[in-house]
Amino acid sequence: MKVSEIRIIHYRAPLREAFTTSFGTMKVRDTVLIMVRDDEGYTGWGEAPVDNGPWYNPETINTVIHVIKDYIAPALKGKEIRHPCVLRGILSRIRGHNMAKAGVEFAIWDMYAKRHGEPLYRMIGGVKRKVEAGLSIGVIGDIDKLLRSVALGLDKGYRRIKIKIKPGWDILPVKTIRREYGDIPLQVDANAAYTLHDHRVFEELDKYGLLMIEQPLHYDDLYMHSILQKTIKTPICLDESIKNIYDAMAGHSLGSYKVINIKPARVGGVCETLAIHWYASQHGIPVWIGGLLETGIGRAFQVAVATLSNVKYPNDISESNRFYIEDVIETPWRLGKDGTYIVPEKPGIGVEVREDVIIRHAEKVLSISLG
Ligand SMILES: [Mg+2]
Repeated sequence: MKVSEIRIIHYRAPLREAFTTSFGTMKVRDTVLIMVRDDEGYTGWGEAPVDNGPWYNPETINTVIHVIKDYIAPALKGKEIRHPCVLRGILSRIRGHNMAKAGVEFAIWDMYAKRHGEPLYRMIGGVKRKVEAGLSIGVIGDIDKLLRSVALGLDKGYRRIKIKIKPGWDILPVKTIRREYGDIPLQVDANAAYTLHDHRVFEELDKYGLLMIEQPLHYDDLYMHSILQKTIKTPICLDESIKNIYDAMAGHSLGSYKVINIKPARVGGVCETLAIHWYASQHGIPVWIGGLLETGIGRAFQVAVATLSNVKYPNDISESNRFYIEDVIETPWRLGKDGTYIVPEKPGIGVEVREDVIIRHAEKVLSISLG
């Protein structure tokens, strides 16, 4: 197949409620949606779920649009794409910019699977028909509100609770949740908000039987995490630090982590996700799939990769209506009572994209013809 058109959409939708992490508070969510069309008229959708500033990773809405328009699109012009993973070669001159690459690669995967009349999950070797979901709760800063959110999450059937922590909001919320809800599957995510000087916080958290502590130290670090991991028994899960398979290999050799949170957009797409997933599988390291407040389109890719066999923990895949008042897909993601999503069996990502909703919230639409 050859890509004949790439459409880049800056999508901006209000959130149902503000979401706070150690980076800051978000009330409106910006993201970049990508549509590709091939020479036979098949289409595919993808998403580059960037923040509106370089907070989670160095990319922003504008860098994603710029890199796709000025570098990725020209590189694809006239190229025969036999399989989505050939993109890694075609785009290898472009260093970094994983989310821009992922957004386009996702769309090409969707189109490729539709051409084959197969659901995406099956085309990538997924084996599960249902995927487990956990709930991620932002830094609320108010114990009563936190307990209400936990209760609501458990009630909805989410299979584990994760709370975001930062200095000053760490031990007390964990201690309180354990006191109120006992031995529920619980983990914390620091989004790189600590240093080794805070080792006492981790020694204390180590007493609460957490499933894991996610990204406690610097977002680029592997070495300091290996030191911390030696001093605590709670598994360290790396998120931001694992940007590609090389980070996964280096971190494993150093003993920096025991679990990986793979966000397909962070690592540059489905193909890099597969590489990390199978590397981890060979080394007995469990993984799970993380999220970045994706719209229903990005979520479809999370669901597809969460069907892989070495995904051993519940994934950060929340329901469409958790963040968005209105989702961009026809049947919004809704959790079953057992805390799982049923994996769509329709070709491609298996969800119908609502272009009417996309147009209504589109800040900017850029259409590039490669024909
Ligand atoms: Mg995280």
